[in-house]
Amino acid sequence: MLDPTSIPKTAGAYQMALRLSGEVTLQVGALGTFCFPAGRYIYTGSALGGLRARLSRHLRQQKKLRWHIDYLLQHATVEDIRLFPTHERIECALNRQVLALPHARVVARGFGSSDCRCLTHLVYLGQDTGAPMRNGML
Ligand SMILES: [Zn+2]
Repeated sequence: MLDPTSIPKTAGAYQMALRLSGEVTLQVGALGTFCFPAGRYIYTGSALGGLRARLSRHLRQQKKLRWHIDYLLQHATVEDIRLFPTHERIECALNRQVLALPHARVVARGFGSSDCRCLTHLVYLGQDTGAPMRNGML
């Protein structure tokens, strides 16, 4: 169980390892409708207003759906969270590392990347690719 009180209040970037137990087709706000296959995903985001506030929101089920990730989190399980406390904007560089992983696939173009030039900030890693996210997780 991920405990939000263990998350620092400082600004930073974060990566969430998500799992979908079955395929879902979702309308992601104004971005469009996408089919999300079952398996593992990594979402990279930034919380310049504070990691704890942002991650607590992500982990809460009852909320008004606002960001792209909110829609997916209605269905996906958060398996791990990796934190990168910093005031610098490093999320796109972190995201590029995930996109470069051997099994990385884009299933929803523009997901979480309305404010940057990345293809997406949600990367699909397939059904089971081992556990690249395990170290340094909460
Ligand atoms: Zn980006």
